[in-house]
Amino acid sequence: MQCSACESPAVTHLDYAGRDLCADHFQRLVESRFKKQLREQLEALGAGEGARIAVGLSGGKDSSTLTALLVDALGPDPRFEIVPISVDEGIPGYRGPALSSAEELADQLDLDLRVVSHEDDHGWTTDEVAQTETEGKPCGTCGVFRRSSLNQAARDEDCDVLAVGHNLDDCAETTLMNLLRSDLEQVLRTGPHEQAPEGLIPRVKPLRSCTEREVALYGVIEELPYHGAECPHAAEATRRTYRSLLLDLVDHEPSARHRLLSLEDKLKDRLDAGEADETELEPCPECGEPSAGGECRACQLAAELEAAHADA
Ligand code: SF4
Ligand SMILES: [Zn+2]
Ligand SMILES: [Zn+2]
Repeated sequence: MQCSACESPAVTHLDYAGRDLCADHFQRLVESRFKKQLREQLEALGAGEGARIAVGLSGGKDSSTLTALLVDALGPDPRFEIVPISVDEGIPGYRGPALSSAEELADQLDLDLRVVSHEDDHGWTTDEVAQTETEGKPCGTCGVFRRSSLNQAARDEDCDVLAVGHNLDDCAETTLMNLLRSDLEQVLRTGPHEQAPEGLIPRVKPLRSCTEREVALYGVIEELPYHGAECPHAAEATRRTYRSLLLDLVDHEPSARHRLLSLEDKLKDRLDAGEADETELEPCPECGEPSAGGECRACQLAAELEAAHADA
């Protein structure tokens, strides 16, 4: 199999585009898509001329590729600073090796890694949450705790923007889920953000136009350290249903993910103008994170876990 753009052997086939690419042309494609998304998303936030950018670095393939590409794109520009943040959810056999990969990559890229934990921020590890009788499925709580910890750490670090490693498969899956739940509000609230209420660090997703496979292949070609194992609780995630639905769709229509992303953008364009999210948030009285009123969701969940634990 030969590259569609030169005479070198191809390393991948892009079924949605009907093209085969060699390692060099594949890398150029990923880098140009990444830079386009990054530039557009930072400009939409008014951060195109410089920003302190927090990056969620879990040590998995997506966030490792994201961090390396960010350093490549912005590292030489003194107007930008990159601050990697890892969240230790408290799943030792899984997160431990991933955190080592995150540290290794941060060292390679000459970045200072900040590590925060669910246990310190919320009082519970995800493994403990999984063991409580009321919460057999830890993913809902784990996701709320992680978003809160990342936002808090990015704010503590005085960052203007938070970059996350969501790839095209993740974004299309979220759009599909929100559409099937008829949750238009959530479609509009999902990042990349063009604005964010006070206290919430706006999120950018520069990998949103690269498929999961492309992000992983880029990491392999660049020999980035990353931990490839799956979380032991992943089988319990409800998102799995939507993931397999999406993969079935892609089997029949290879551009299904790209079309879902384009639909999300069109919906945002049409609706954002008239219905910008102007939700006023106030600091949670417990932890100071932004909340729509009273205790934030993370503190409510921690209180429910305490109550269930006391009853047991
Ligand atoms: S799969 Fe679930 S429990 Fe595991 S890290 Fe993700 S959200 Fe947390
Ligand atoms: Zn080529
Ligand atoms: Zn709180």
